[in-house]
Amino acid sequence: MHIMPIRVGHGYDLHRLVEGRPLWLGGVEIPHARGLLGHSDGDVVLHAICDAVLGAMGAGDIGEHFPDADPRYHGIASSELLQQVVARMRADGWRLGNVDVTICAEQPRLAAHRAALRTRVAALLGAAENQVSIKAKTNEGLDAVGRGAAIAATAVVTIERP
Ligand code: MG
Repeated sequence: MHIMPIRVGHGYDLHRLVEGRPLWLGGVEIPHARGLLGHSDGDVVLHAICDAVLGAMGAGDIGEHFPDADPRYHGIASSELLQQVVARMRADGWRLGNVDVTICAEQPRLAAHRAALRTRVAALLGAAENQVSIKAKTNEGLDAVGRGAAIAATAVVTIERP
């Protein structure tokens, strides 16, 4: 196998916002009237990061590693999924370069939570805060995200051989 010293991965996720669920983003519970629907806690930020890390490794995706149909993953905290992905990354000889996340959400406004998300994501990755970037945007009232029916996130990750 050809192994490059630095590799890039991309991840994307979207979950519906529904009543009666807590809102988890980046491993942080955000006060909001609705939360993300999913078999796990629906944390689109951590799911996008998992997929980006797995993508950089060429190791499949989150659905393959943690199938919806497997009862072990029902209700699981996405922080646990990410920690398993990071353990796999390290076991395969990679370390994180950086991660850059964009969250698309109409509500709640995330500016006040960005610092907390960054701290939490860095801790889950075993990384320094300056290796982690969290950005937030709205979709200008357009599409399902813009109507507040869903929250989406994208992540780009670099990994490198120490
Ligand atoms: Mg997901």
